[in-house]
Amino acid sequence: MAATKEAGGVVLFPARLRPAAPPQPRIHLSPPALVGGELATLSRTLTSGWIAPAGPVPLAFEEAIRDTTGFSHAAAVASGTAALHLAYRVLGVERGDEVWTQSLTFVASIAPAVQMGARPRFLDVSPESWTLDPEVLETQLRQAARRGKLPRAVVPVDLYGQPADLDPILSLCGRWGVPVLCDSAEALGAHYRGRPVGKGAAMAAFSFNGNKIITAGGGGALVSDDPALIARARHLATQAKEAAPHYQHETTGYSYGLSSVLASVGLAQIGALPMRVAARRLVHARYAEGLAELPGLSFMPEPEWSHATRWLTVLQLDPQRCGVTPETLRRALEAANIESRPVWKPLHLQPAFHGARCHGAGHSVRLFERGLCLPSGAMTADEQDRVIDTIRTCLGG
Ligand SMILES: *Cc1c(COP(=O)(O)O)cnc(C)c1O
Repeated sequence: MAATKEAGGVVLFPARLRPAAPPQPRIHLSPPALVGGELATLSRTLTSGWIAPAGPVPLAFEEAIRDTTGFSHAAAVASGTAALHLAYRVLGVERGDEVWTQSLTFVASIAPAVQMGARPRFLDVSPESWTLDPEVLETQLRQAARRGKLPRAVVPVDLYGQPADLDPILSLCGRWGVPVLCDSAEALGAHYRGRPVGKGAAMAAFSFNGNKIITAGGGGALVSDDPALIARARHLATQAKEAAPHYQHETTGYSYGLSSVLASVGLAQIGALPMRVAARRLVHARYAEGLAELPGLSFMPEPEWSHATRWLTVLQLDPQRCGVTPETLRRALEAANIESRPVWKPLHLQPAFHGARCHGAGHSVRLFERGLCLPSGAMTADEQDRVIDTIRTCLGG
């Protein structure tokens, strides 16, 4: 490679060949973070010999899940998606049934039901909470009752740590006898009107995936106040074995148990949940303060009935007022080695659900088009300032 010889014998690189400044360390969207007790619980589990998806550790984890969620019955399973799959089985979803959820969510909310042959119906969210709009739900339930085709289940999603407006949803679904299953995968630790998220629904599903607020390194839970529902889910999660020495099967199930190894990690983490919620809320508060007066920039609102976890801090850009699209901002952050991500692409726009539509006023699409999720995990104040400064520079503020 050509170096330039300059007067005085000093060899210099021309600017274009100068070694680049070392990149700033990457700031991730929502990285898993250890709380410190994991090694101790893991080593206790390994030395005990109970490492399968059975025994005292998953039981202890389930007890901690009951305490945390306020539900009286819990099954710890292999993933949040597995929990939702089991819920759909327990609810008796069959080919041709309808299952309703909000369009603005992650695909796993509905994927297991679709794989079982159900037809999804996508409803819009309310701009006040970004969660299922009870008014849209009421209109849809009225029409469905008239058609004589009520859904097998309604699935509100507690999006980005924001609880859905559950009371009106429960009373509407109660009026038409439709069970409510909360996809609370993103919202462990959130509260709705002072009670833990999902409480009051027939069932709720949680996730302990690596990017969630606490993690088992992978895992999930299905919870309910109805012991029969969880007993049935547990039966299906362990290959639907009937009580016979030769493994009798009245139906087929799954291998969805949570290994004791992973449950140990979850057990060590779950005690730190209140601290984690406080930390995520603090990250959000610092963004809100650091970006306060930028025109055209706003955040997911928190209605008075919500105590969100702010699992992710999500902003909205009004391109007319700030002159920048979320994609421009995403690239500017990426150039500074900062991970950000668009808001969930509404499911009715996904090729997998070709031909589907979203019932409502179209808020889901607008939130997708204008939204960006910011790094929201454990970060130093200096790291968060780097994110804030990059956003301010990009928006010319
Ligand atoms: C993460 C997530 C799930 C799935 O959880 P896994 O444990 O990854 O299977 C389901 N629904 C929503 C809304 C999620 O964010």
